[in-house]
Amino acid sequence: MTDCIFCKIINNEIPSDKVYEDEQVLVFKDIAPKAPVHLLMIPKKHIHSLAEVTAEDSELMGYMMTKVPEVAKDAGLEGFRTIINTGKDGGQIVFHIHIHILGGGGPLPF
Ligand code: 5GP
Ligand code: ZN
Repeated sequence: MTDCIFCKIINNEIPSDKVYEDEQVLVFKDIAPKAPVHLLMIPKKHIHSLAEVTAEDSELMGYMMTKVPEVAKDAGLEGFRTIINTGKDGGQIVFHIHIHILGGGGPLPF
């Protein structure tokens, strides 16, 4: 998608602080971290949001779930919070599906 900032990050048209990359996913640091460690995992395939995921994406979604704990461990996190904001009312600002991975500040207050 040409006007998607996360697709531009995938294509290196916008710089990012990458922490993990393979053929299917990219993980980079959030530009405005809400925790000492705040990573975003995105699929390289442009999917608008969790609401647009179809059965065709099952394998990819499952793959991302298996990668999250690996990436969190590599980031030194003993525990972490994952968030997928979905749609405007769900707080989604960037419409390329992403998993927030947050932690590193001890037990979260809520
Ligand atoms: P959302 O609210 O859509 O779930 O979260 C989007 C996240 O993307 C926000 O936490 C925001 O700080 C992050 N973000 C937005 N633009 C950029 C960018 O250009 N680079 C990086 N690294 N993060 C971004
Ligand atoms: Zn995109």
